[in-house]
Amino acid sequence: MLFDTHMHCDYSCDSHMEFADAIAAAQAQNIGMIVTEHWDYDYPTNPTAFIFDIDKYFDRLQPLCGDKVLIGIEIGMQAHTAAEDKKVAQGHAFDYVLGSIHCIGGRDLYEPTCYEGRTRQQIVEEFLNESIACVAQDRDFDSFAHIDYICRYWPYAGVGRELRLQDAPELFDRLFRLLIEKNIPIEINTRRLDDAAAVAGLLPLYKRYRALGGEYCTVGSDAHYAEHVGRRLSEALRMAAACGLTPVYFQERKMRIMEVTQ
Ligand SMILES: [Zn+2]
Ligand SMILES: [Zn+2]
Repeated sequence: MLFDTHMHCDYSCDSHMEFADAIAAAQAQNIGMIVTEHWDYDYPTNPTAFIFDIDKYFDRLQPLCGDKVLIGIEIGMQAHTAAEDKKVAQGHAFDYVLGSIHCIGGRDLYEPTCYEGRTRQQIVEEFLNESIACVAQDRDFDSFAHIDYICRYWPYAGVGRELRLQDAPELFDRLFRLLIEKNIPIEINTRRLDDAAAVAGLLPLYKRYRALGGEYCTVGSDAHYAEHVGRRLSEALRMAAACGLTPVYFQERKMRIMEVTQ
């Protein structure tokens, strides 16, 4: 079964759907789903915006769960939050822990001020160095989320809009090699896959991850609205196939190959 492994519901303050809406949307498409509420410890603009009561989350979502509805969390990693993040990942019976970079150098990638006074090259290097530092730490997560998250918000247009391997080939390789060493798949996030330039920009990154020995990817819509559950998963699967990556999902923190019939 196809799984949408990334979405936000009741416990993500920026989400506009409830568990029941997401579950109905997944059922209607006959796909499995993993709810991955945001957990960003010490978020720069608001330290408690993406912190919630995880026990309550389980109490409310678990009765709705089964083989097709799983409980995950998206942990926003910062170099100084590793110990807290690991405690969260291991302190609860998640099916899936997604690791994300939402901040660099204590600055929120969503905020325009994040990029002020720096060149694009400095930002790319800072982003990759922060990613490398976090992945290298003693952590516990299952897949590396949305490598192109930064491209959603940074101010660069034209040829600078997408991340490019040639911007920092050694840093990309270090990041991918670390993920591969730690058996961490890379997520193909479908948020930007309606944009042909984004698809064209992402393919070389996923292909490089594969060329260095990476085998697996997860696919996720990052839905915050019910109508976005399952969105563009088929495009993500096409990209996975083009890169030679095998789509997987996680249940009880164990990797499972996704059976894809297309
Ligand atoms: Zn995210
Ligand atoms: Zn997300």
